[in-house]
Amino acid sequence: MLFVAVCKAAPDLTENPWYKNALVGMEIGPTGAQFGYSDSNDVRYCSQFDGREIVRHAISAHCEYIVIWARDGDYAYYESKILPRAPGLGKRDPLRDAIDEAHRHNLPVIAYCVVQQGGHFLKAHPEWEMRDANGKSIGRFCYNSGYLEAMKKIVAEILAYGIDGFHIDMLDQGFEPPYGCWCDTCRAQFEREFGHPMPTGPTWDALWDEMLEFRYHSSERFEKELYAYIKSINPRATVDFNYHGGPPFSFEVGQRPVQHAGNGDFITGETGVWGFSALTVGLNAEFYRAAVPHQRVQVAMQRGVRMYHDQTTRPLNDIRWELLTLLAHNAFVTMVDKTGFDGWLDPIAYERIGSAFRDAQEKREHFGQTPVQEVGIYFSSRTRDWVGREKPENYFQSFQGAHKAMVYEHIPYGVVLDENVTIETLKRFPIILLPNTGILSGKEVGLLRHYVEEGGKLIITGQSGIFDRMGKTLGESALSEIIGAKVVRMLDSLDNWIVISEIGDTFSQLSSDIPTNWPFLVKGPAVVYEPTTASAVCKLLKPHRTTRQLENKESTDWPMSAEVPVGPAMLLNNVGKGKVLTFAGSPDFATASEHHIVEARRLLRNAVRFLNSTPRVKIIAPVSVESVITDDTANRTLRIHLLGYNSPPQTTPAKNRPYVLPMPVEDAPMYRVIVETSEPVIQATAWNKSTRLTHSEHKVEAVVNDIHEILILRYK
Ligand SMILES: [Zn+2]
Repeated sequence: MLFVAVCKAAPDLTENPWYKNALVGMEIGPTGAQFGYSDSNDVRYCSQFDGREIVRHAISAHCEYIVIWARDGDYAYYESKILPRAPGLGKRDPLRDAIDEAHRHNLPVIAYCVVQQGGHFLKAHPEWEMRDANGKSIGRFCYNSGYLEAMKKIVAEILAYGIDGFHIDMLDQGFEPPYGCWCDTCRAQFEREFGHPMPTGPTWDALWDEMLEFRYHSSERFEKELYAYIKSINPRATVDFNYHGGPPFSFEVGQRPVQHAGNGDFITGETGVWGFSALTVGLNAEFYRAAVPHQRVQVAMQRGVRMYHDQTTRPLNDIRWELLTLLAHNAFVTMVDKTGFDGWLDPIAYERIGSAFRDAQEKREHFGQTPVQEVGIYFSSRTRDWVGREKPENYFQSFQGAHKAMVYEHIPYGVVLDENVTIETLKRFPIILLPNTGILSGKEVGLLRHYVEEGGKLIITGQSGIFDRMGKTLGESALSEIIGAKVVRMLDSLDNWIVISEIGDTFSQLSSDIPTNWPFLVKGPAVVYEPTTASAVCKLLKPHRTTRQLENKESTDWPMSAEVPVGPAMLLNNVGKGKVLTFAGSPDFATASEHHIVEARRLLRNAVRFLNSTPRVKIIAPVSVESVITDDTANRTLRIHLLGYNSPPQTTPAKNRPYVLPMPVEDAPMYRVIVETSEPVIQATAWNKSTRLTHSEHKVEAVVNDIHEILILRYK
């Protein structure tokens, strides 16, 4: 006990905080009040919610820290003078009990605290409620109201318990319309800042541009003030805000990718196939890292099959796949468990989580090395807001399709964000990919030109550079000179086609594994270009339109066959020491679309290999295997993490066809992988004893039979 006390009081905790080397932990909270406005007389709710038991369960599952529910939209789960207590708690104080028990085990305790949730507290304080443009209350807290002062009192109460930090959730402004906030406080503040009244709604003009800035700034100020207040009471208490700055979230949430990423001590985001897709598990971790390169990345996942609170328990391999994918991308992971209504803790869930956590901890030394990344996928928040507007999914589809193509083709990628891009960021990647980056400022174009002139390789797709800051079409591309072509027109169709023909020896790599003289669908936005300095390669074709389609009597949602060529499919331009390869169509959008065909994706792979023919590491593996490469330069060791995603086929549901969620992963897959390296490999080993591995100087071949494998290659 003395040892524990000394540790807790050690002065170097600020330099060596709990999260610095954390790998895995859990967040545990109750189920029954998550939708707010629950029955405050129902003493069954939380009747067994027990802080000591929660900590004991977390310890049995090998947790390195615990995040315990302290406050939601309805209740406090501690002794509060401000908030009502959950009705079933009786005399118990779960936060106090959790801390007492955790201190016996030297386990850091983080308090989970909600900001934005409708419920009893909001109902009691209508003066803090957000209002829409018509003045109607919209069931959320306004960040410019007096709510910040109330939040300060709440966090002060919780800090008095001696917690090690806060996980502050739901710092959003809503995830869909109606938007806020047009309350009297906001109106007055806006007028002071901008000298005129607010816009009347999402007008998508200069006024709305100011409104977006105002909204972003409101969230940023709230975060920063709350952070500073917590630190003023206890500088050693950590603060992290749950982040909603990446896809699928857009302006409505009130967060920009970079502006709202670094306001805590580390960044926390969520993943899970229920809200983000199976493929986005790794992408989220990379997106968060790009947003705050100097901070650690925490990602939360859940034990339920479909969602938090759903009371189901995933198969062990499904948990392992998500957990180990996140760790391979160098995130640390919080597993969220929502207890039963009364506070019951599912013993099988803890058994499986414990087994997955032990697996992770045994592999600890193999996580955290420097990633080896070949392609930087560019993300533009300005395009998200002003081209995406209220349908950002169209823009996200190109970004996510680019990512999907890179993962399926085993091309290691990173994310580059417009808000914090520098020439150094760009130069970290041999190739930068602009997936339908509609809006590019003069500064961004200058950086990209500089990057290419000095030898960088650029891939441009779809309608990149074709919109002004407000999302209006320019009639020309801001990238015209770099592309080496003029814009003739934008196609109004998405069912556009490409045919590989008359390719010639110079460009033959671009047609690898794609049949020639065969038009194939590359669904997505397209542009007709007229080359100036670029070489034109292959053909872009527009689709047929039926008479009824031309008369607007039939939709064009379903792809129609190819009609005639309208321009080149690809353009290659030499700029300085670098090269720019432009697709007139959108193989990225196509790859994420419902009409994804393999050849559309291969266009992107071929483009990468054409521009960078001898990558440092080349991986051949099934598309169901994700690979993550890291380098430990001091020990001259490459690690190839392999994550096998093995979900069986599914039926479609009766509604929303073909909407299909993948089945949880049950079985470990068996597959062959070939790794080719530019450096000579001296020694190659695999983590799993069951893996069969052979190697020669520049080639490693393995047959793997697990969800996660690490190939460890020492090179000369
Ligand atoms: Zn307001």
